[in-house]
Amino acid sequence: MNWQSIARQPLGFFPTPMHSLPSLSVHLAGPQIYIKRDDLSGLALGGNKVRKLEFLLGEALQQKADCIISAGAAQSNHCRQTAAAAAKLNLPCYLLLGGKAPEHAQGNVLLDKLFGATIVWTGEQRKGEGIAALEAQLKSKGLRPYVVPYGGSDAVGCLGFAAALEELLKQQSDIEEIVFASSSGATQAGLMLAKAYLNSSIQLRGINIDKANHRTQHFSQTIADLANTASEQFSLDSRFSARDVCLDDEYLGEGYAVLGDAEREAIMLLAETEGVLLDPVYTAKAMAGLIARIRQGKYSSQQKVLFWHTGGTPALFAYAKQLLS
Ligand SMILES: *Cc1c(COP(=O)(O)O)cnc(C)c1O
Repeated sequence: MNWQSIARQPLGFFPTPMHSLPSLSVHLAGPQIYIKRDDLSGLALGGNKVRKLEFLLGEALQQKADCIISAGAAQSNHCRQTAAAAAKLNLPCYLLLGGKAPEHAQGNVLLDKLFGATIVWTGEQRKGEGIAALEAQLKSKGLRPYVVPYGGSDAVGCLGFAAALEELLKQQSDIEEIVFASSSGATQAGLMLAKAYLNSSIQLRGINIDKANHRTQHFSQTIADLANTASEQFSLDSRFSARDVCLDDEYLGEGYAVLGDAEREAIMLLAETEGVLLDPVYTAKAMAGLIARIRQGKYSSQQKVLFWHTGGTPALFAYAKQLLS
């Protein structure tokens, strides 16, 4: 199968903007820093999942699905974007969210409700452990559910970020390194896939933001597996090993969704120098990683480094207390 033939359902506004961060670059006295604004991808306060969902829901419509299932953490950006996309396509959406129902819906949970999603609270499980059971239950009622996997990360989801690298290189071809938050893997796997078939020399640096990613195997292997599955499924030649995956595990901080000093500093710095908002869970950790690397002198002043803003800003409001303490 050629991936150009996969149906793509328009959901966002692309290309997303790309611009330089001059004040931040001067402040850190390191490389020339650029930013790719997937926080402005258009649908429902934006984010990187819109790219994956264009392909995933394209497939769902092709399969004549009549409802959507997905899963994530309570403040999942992925689930919020899925709920919004499903609303736009007039498909009922079921979300399995980790934790328990909050007293006051805030951030992404508030938005999930505005989009009319049916939420099932799943306690300790935040990675879609209950998807198969819910799918079976809906099928037994005669429905045709389409499962959007955790984080939108499967071979089809990878296509969103393969297309994204092409989009970026048309905007600015002389970026040397891209830094971004990596969590369920298809952002990184998709970028790797496109880098290979475009023969690009760009360096792709994922910042791991989730300690739990190592539970079964190193996350690099998961990303390589994802890229290989996509490559095979869409008849591309590239094959990847864990060693081909550049993933930084040094900036995990206190773990998934825990706001520490480094993350707080990154949020404040971007807000104060550039008027750009980061999110507490993903982009703040990834930016904290980039800031640390610049302070360690990893880049020259001639180099152009791009920070891929993957979205997540609605979660800021759920962290108001921790941010200002
Ligand atoms: C999901 C998400 C990521 C990580 O992307 P993956 O493809 O899951 O690795 C990064 N940032 C934000 C804001 C996200 O919502």
